[in-house]
Amino acid sequence: METQNIKRLVVLGGGESGVGAAILAKDKGMDVFLSDFGSIAPRYQEMLRQENIPFEEGQHTMERILAADEVVKSPGIPDTAPVIVALKSKNIPIISEIEFAGRYTDSKMVCITGSNGKTTTTSLIYHILRRAGIDAGLAGNIGKSLALQVARDPHPIYVIELSSFQLDNMYSFKANIAVLLNITPDHLDRYEYKMQNYINAKFRILQNLTPRDAFIYWQDDPVVSAQLRQITTEAAIFPFAEHQEENTAAYIDAEDELIIRTPAESMSMPRADLALHGLHNIYNSMAAGISACLLNIKRDDIRAALSDFSGVEHRLEPVRTLDGIEWINDSKATNVNSCWYALEAMKRPTVLILGGKDKGNDYSEILPLVNEKVKAIVAMGKDNAKIVEYFGTNTTLPVIDTHSLDEAIAACRAQATEGDTVLLSPCCASFDLFKSYEDRGTQFKDKVNAL
Ligand code: ADP
Repeated sequence: METQNIKRLVVLGGGESGVGAAILAKDKGMDVFLSDFGSIAPRYQEMLRQENIPFEEGQHTMERILAADEVVKSPGIPDTAPVIVALKSKNIPIISEIEFAGRYTDSKMVCITGSNGKTTTTSLIYHILRRAGIDAGLAGNIGKSLALQVARDPHPIYVIELSSFQLDNMYSFKANIAVLLNITPDHLDRYEYKMQNYINAKFRILQNLTPRDAFIYWQDDPVVSAQLRQITTEAAIFPFAEHQEENTAAYIDAEDELIIRTPAESMSMPRADLALHGLHNIYNSMAAGISACLLNIKRDDIRAALSDFSGVEHRLEPVRTLDGIEWINDSKATNVNSCWYALEAMKRPTVLILGGKDKGNDYSEILPLVNEKVKAIVAMGKDNAKIVEYFGTNTTLPVIDTHSLDEAIAACRAQATEGDTVLLSPCCASFDLFKSYEDRGTQFKDKVNAL
């Protein structure tokens, strides 16, 4: 049989993005094979079987993989994995699922990256568009894969959350609106422990932008500003900042109004009307508001959406108020920077739950806010030695050492009184006591709701 002109595509990783890419490739007539070194969830196996796409799990058959014309790689697989090293030595092109899907659509792309705030801002932009009646798709790290939507449920506009790992293997893909929220050290283990490599990955969001495209970024981020002095972009730029500076497209004015100005649409609204609180969320609202203005959404629609957005689960999520004590779930705060922004948003004396798997945390970053707002620290983890020692030495606060969620909640109840807030914003990954940050947040909510 003549198969020479049929492109052989290998997909590495059988999760949401890999299965989506395999289905799109099959629809486009390619010879597809999917391989996952780990296990593939039953629902994805089912999808692959239904589509008649050959796959393997628990192994990589190198002979078949190295016969590929091109490989779509899941963002979870590091470049140091033997299969990637082997592919690179044979010069077989490796791309990400977003790069692959981007080839088969002319839809408008609104892409969001940054170290913190991606999911919130992506969801907020999506909310504004849907609320204004626009048929938008949500993709990237959240929602359905871009590839699957392009194949089976296309939309004229996509709002896409991009991690640095996805950006790593993107080359020709072009955003129409690119949002860069901030850059703080993260995932350096995947970037040879070189911050510049991580910065370069984030800045790939600017690739291929033309003067008709927009670049939205946080003007006061020292890392982003320094990089922008080194490189140029043809895109129209729309920086946002807390206070107005040169060229600032969104800021808070002296009357505490959020101001957004773009050539397409402009608007203002009282800061107090924003649904999401805290300085970090003002930045997220600014980035989303500028994007919506540039997409010609009417200012009344943007204002309404910015004020009725219900937030994203596990991010400063109010759980309940009991006996005058407010309980907040910020389980997604898995690094110190996120906790800083959570504390910044606290208006009442706070009992703070910290702990889990520490990724080399430097707690001095939150020390001033802890001293200003926190009345007690509850350490929750298998090993809390670092937290107990740091805050025991550097503050005069009570630091309670607990080793389970039940113990931690009991300690919080003992410390908090009417008018206080209990905040779970742990600065750490969850894997010591929980399956994931979602599991930690869900268990916390269930137990607090059962009090
Ligand atoms: P990501 O998707 O980038 O991980 P999320 O929107 O899920 O970000 O938010 C994760 C945590 O980061 C939140 O709990 C919050 O504490 C913090 N955060 C959110 N937005 C920002 C921001 N713009 N700057 C700094 N921290 C933020």
